[in-house]
Amino acid sequence: MIFHILTIFPSFFDGPLKYGVVPKAVEAGRIGIRVHNLRDWAVDRHQTVDDRPFGGGEGMVLKVEPVFRALQSILPSRFSPPEEGNHGNTRVILLSAQGPRFHQAKARALLDYDEVLLLCGRYEGVDERITGHLVDEELSIGDFVLSGGELPAALVVDAVARLVPGVLGNEASSQFESFSVSDGDGQLLLDCPHYTRPADFNGWRVPEVLLQGNHAEIRRWRAAQALAKRQKNRPDLSRRDS
Ligand code: SAM
Repeated sequence: MIFHILTIFPSFFDGPLKYGVVPKAVEAGRIGIRVHNLRDWAVDRHQTVDDRPFGGGEGMVLKVEPVFRALQSILPSRFSPPEEGNHGNTRVILLSAQGPRFHQAKARALLDYDEVLLLCGRYEGVDERITGHLVDEELSIGDFVLSGGELPAALVVDAVARLVPGVLGNEASSQFESFSVSDGDGQLLLDCPHYTRPADFNGWRVPEVLLQGNHAEIRRWRAAQALAKRQKNRPDLSRRDS
């Protein structure tokens, strides 16, 4: 699976995607990450990618032409005539505060694509013709406004990459973790509490059940704890498939 990130700040990604399982997955050839500088597709010598909004108003708007040219160059199969058949298994996503919320089921759904391009917005927003004609969907990472789509894009890459088979050392990690679906009630779960040594720190003791080696008891205790945490922290959580 290949992630393309289209941004005006390519060096932003020198940091967030260089730690943990993601660079290991790149090294092992399980995923590819290609960061593209949108300015490379600007049409003028100043490499301008923004302009003033029609109708007036605050801020600048990301222009449609450089994005169009970039997509043509990065994902040419999307622009080939239908009779030529191969449109490739690609997905183009605009990070946007106005999009539907990104969640774990969406991260899993993105595994179906060979190439996912994440377009990072900046400024006051992007020309709506990008949203209307060039991207497959918008995704928001939460109900707040950030100054750019770079952080959201890094977050989406991380969330999807760790689900790619072989990326996590232990595949069970991604099957039994927060937002997996419960066999019992079909609802989304939260993870159970974890503890490690020492068993007693400052008088804060690890729950006895975890120290006694009765694995059936431990499974029951963990399930009950996860449920209690969901009720306390996320009573809104219900099953989401799309
Ligand atoms: N004027 C826009 C609005 O009110 O929705 C906010 C634009 S924001 C300053 C610039 C860019 O940051 C957006 O185009 C988008 O790519 C990104 N962005 C901001 N908040 C985001 C969020 N919650 N999720 C995903 N992307 C976000």
